[in-house]
Amino acid sequence: MAMSPSLQARVVGAGPTGALAALALAEAGWGVTLRDPLPPTELQRRQRAYAFTHSSRELLQRLDLWNELLPSLSPFRRLRLRDVAAERTVIFGPADLADAEAVGWIGSHQPLMALLLRRLAGHPRVRLDLGMNGPDAPGDPATGDVPDLVVAADGPDSPTRRSLGIGLWSRPYRQACLTVQVELRGCDDDEAWELLRPEGPFAVLPLGERRFQLVWSAPASRCRQLETLGDAPFLDRLAGALPDTLQPDALLDHPRSFPVALALARRLHLGTTVLVGESAHRCHPVGGQGLNLCWRDVAELHRLALRAARGTLHPRRIGAVYGRRRWPDLLLTLLATDLLVRLFSNRHPALLPLRSLALEQLARLGRCRSLALAAMTLGPCRWLAPAPPWRHGHQQLSPAPALPGHGAVPAPSGGPE
Ligand SMILES: Cc1cc2nc3c(=O)[nH]c(=O)nc-3n(C[C@H](O)[C@H](O)[C@H](O)COP(=O)(O)OP(=O)(O)OC[C@H]3O[C@@H](n4cnc5c(N)ncnc54)[C@H](O)[C@@H]3O)c2cc1C
Repeated sequence: MAMSPSLQARVVGAGPTGALAALALAEAGWGVTLRDPLPPTELQRRQRAYAFTHSSRELLQRLDLWNELLPSLSPFRRLRLRDVAAERTVIFGPADLADAEAVGWIGSHQPLMALLLRRLAGHPRVRLDLGMNGPDAPGDPATGDVPDLVVAADGPDSPTRRSLGIGLWSRPYRQACLTVQVELRGCDDDEAWELLRPEGPFAVLPLGERRFQLVWSAPASRCRQLETLGDAPFLDRLAGALPDTLQPDALLDHPRSFPVALALARRLHLGTTVLVGESAHRCHPVGGQGLNLCWRDVAELHRLALRAARGTLHPRRIGAVYGRRRWPDLLLTLLATDLLVRLFSNRHPALLPLRSLALEQLARLGRCRSLALAAMTLGPCRWLAPAPPWRHGHQQLSPAPALPGHGAVPAPSGGPE
C-alpha cells in the first residue's frame, strides 16, 4: 500500500528520546517538526554515557543508525552482578544471550546526539525548530497546520504533560545518583559491573582505553558531599566503595549528582498527543533501563506510525493503541527496578540468606540467567520470545571467545571480590 505523505507530526523536545522519535516518524513517511528551546550545540553538550541494551540496538538498526553509531560505542561482553553484602557474584556473558556479540554497549551522549541531529538535518521530511524560545505554535486549522500527532518528549518536567492536565504519580528515592568518568585499573575494557551495595546500586561501565563511567547511587546527602570533594579525597572515597580489585587512578570529569525518582504519568495520551520518554516515566538507573525504556516507547510509536502511513491504522487511534501497548512494559520495568533497589539496598539480616540463595541459583542455572538477561536487555514483555532476536539480522563484531566461566563466585574471605 502506498505511503501517505500527508501525515504530519510535531515532536516537542529534542533530547535523545524526542530526536529519535522524530527520525522514526520521518522514516515511517510522516512530515515532522522537531522543536526544542535548546540549540544543537547545547543539545549535544551533556556529559553523560548511556548503557544500550539489545532493544535499543534493534531500533537503531531498523532506523539505519546502528552501523554509524557503532564505532563510538564500547561493547561489553560480561556483566558482573555482585551483591556486596551477601558476597555473591553472578557473571552474565554472551553464552546467556545465545552467543550475541555483546551483552550491551556503552556510548557517550555527544556522538549519539551529533548523529541524530545530523540525520535529522539532512532528512527531507524533517523541519528543525531548535534554539527558539517563545510559545509553541498552536496550529491553525484554517491553514491545515494542525498536526495529526503531537509527541511530547519534553523531559521529566514536561510542560506539555502539565498543560494537558495529565497527572503524574511520582515517588522520589532517598538515594541520588552521582555520575563521573574515571580511569580504572583491574577491570577489563569489555566488562561491566553492577554492584548492589547497601547504600545503593553502583554501575561501572566501560568506555574503552581504561576509561569507565560510574553511576553511583547513594543517599542524596552523601552524593552532594561527594560532589564537593577535591580530586584526591574523591578518589579515596571511590576506592573505598569499589571492590579491592578495581583501583581508580584518575578523575576524567567532574562528579555530578542528580535526583532519582520513580514516576509514571496517569495516562500516556490525550487526544492526538502521546507522551514518550521521561515525560511519561522515570525509573531508578539500576540495570541501565532508563533511556532504553524511553526508546522502547519510540519503537512502539514507529510501528504505529508505519501502520498509519500505510493506511491500516487511523492516525487518531495512535494515542489509544500506543497507551494500551506501552503499559505492560512500563509497569513491569518500573516495578522490577524498584524491587531491586528495595531488596538489595540494605543489610537486612532476614533478606541476606534469601538474596544469597537467589544469586546462587541464578549463577548455577543457565536458563535462569538467560531469562533474567533477556528481561533486562529486551524488556520484561519480550523475554519469552521463542527466537531471541540477537540470533538474527545483525553482524557479529567479532567471534565470541569462550568465557573463563559463569556462575556464582563466592568472595574470598576478607574482600568483596
Ligand atoms: C544530571 C543528569 C545526569 C544523567 N546522567 C545519566 C547517565 O550518565 N546515564 C544515563 O543512562 N542516564 C543519565 N541520566 C538520565 C537520562 O539523561 C535520561 O534518561 C534521558 O535524558 C531521557 O531522555 P528524554 O529525551 O526523555 O528527556 P530529556 O533528555 O530530559 O530531554 C527533554 C528535552 O525537552 C526539551 N524541552 C523542555 N521543555 C520544552 C518545551 N517547552 N518545548 C520543547 N522542548 C522542551 C529539553 O530542552 C530537552 O532537550 C541523567 C539525568 C540527569 C538529570
